[in-house]
Amino acid sequence: MDTVSVEKRSAMMRNIRSRNTRPELAVRRTAHRLGLRFRLHRRDLPGAPDLVFPRRKTALFVNGCYWHRHSGCKYAYTPKSNVEFWLNKLQTNVARDIRTRQELEDRGWNVVVIWECQTREEKTIADILTREVCNAAC
Ligand SMILES: [Zn+2]
Repeated sequence: MDTVSVEKRSAMMRNIRSRNTRPELAVRRTAHRLGLRFRLHRRDLPGAPDLVFPRRKTALFVNGCYWHRHSGCKYAYTPKSNVEFWLNKLQTNVARDIRTRQELEDRGWNVVVIWECQTREEKTIADILTREVCNAAC
């Protein structure tokens, strides 16, 4: 039985691509420390990426493991109630992510995803940014 009200569910759904979350702020802080220049949430790009590095033509998304179904991650668990509804919604998110990545790549952008579970240690974030955004040169 579903215990979540319609209003609550709407709020939850709106949160899927919520901005300025803790993981996102952690990534911004680390990118800044590495001296990377970036812009936020460029609406003129598919998916309004969380961070955009114009000089490196790289778009970065900070994805929640649950909502975006981080493959093999313990946080991407199966919902316990109203399973069919939620799996359908989550599948829609994944399909949208794939489409967004394709659209960006078609425009010549490099697309990087940092998962929420990777944002707990600053070193992990720094390693990903150095490898995927700086090309080991920042
Ligand atoms: Zn994860």
